[in-house]
Amino acid sequence: MELHTDLLLDLNILSRATQKYYDRQLQPFDLTYAQLPVLLMIYESEGITANQIVAQGQYDKGTVTKNVQKLESLGYIETVPSRTDKRLRHLYTTDRSKMVIARIYGIRRDWWNHLMAAIPDEQAGQFLSQTRSLVNNAIEASRTENAPLLFYRMDLLSVNDWPGKLSLVLHAAGCNFRCPGCADRSRVILEEDARILQTEDILDQIAHRKTFIDGVVIRGGEPFLQEGLISFLRHLRRMQVPVRLQTNGTFPRQLEQCLQESLVQE
Ligand code: SF4
Repeated sequence: MELHTDLLLDLNILSRATQKYYDRQLQPFDLTYAQLPVLLMIYESEGITANQIVAQGQYDKGTVTKNVQKLESLGYIETVPSRTDKRLRHLYTTDRSKMVIARIYGIRRDWWNHLMAAIPDEQAGQFLSQTRSLVNNAIEASRTENAPLLFYRMDLLSVNDWPGKLSLVLHAAGCNFRCPGCADRSRVILEEDARILQTEDILDQIAHRKTFIDGVVIRGGEPFLQEGLISFLRHLRRMQVPVRLQTNGTFPRQLEQCLQESLVQE
């Protein structure tokens, strides 16, 4: 079995073991593992809204709604309508929560100590920071993997945009500059004039031309404004299609990532 398959399997086992532990420990409080993070987020940020819990915890909205309702029905939290926006409801813990919260934190601490006993103290910091990077990568990829790409034009064949090469050219909509002399001002700056091209459709067009084009040119506007750009470039790398990217240089971190991963030609 490959290393990454092992890791995902291990994480799955860890998650299920954690759930089992918490469900058993929380039984006397009528709580489950699923409700715990929601309760703790409310306790740690009294007045938080359900939408903020969804965003901060990367949870599914339906799951948070269900757990908020359950916690309210158990008397652990109460919801209070916002004074400024009737659609918003702020969440607060009740006295029932406050009476048991220290014991709940104790359950969490015991589990954490139990797990971390497997990691030497001097490696714990590095381990946790690497795990955080892993999680951030997963969040980033799931957010951008199918993000639509906003282009205002696709030239199926060009001899001008990559000197000495035949290329397919994608023109990205939107720019963070407002240069007075911009040649494509209306299409670059007014994003409503752009059309959304589905990644699969663009990849199909490229695949059909792969035998006679030398690569793909992506120009703007500013291509890095497209959330799904890096995942799209990774698709092209897997297809072994060279890419020339034109950027106004205001996204150095993303550009560096592209160069490090060899997603674009220097
Ligand atoms: S596309 Fe280029 S010229 Fe046009 S506004 Fe953006 S940076 Fe300026």
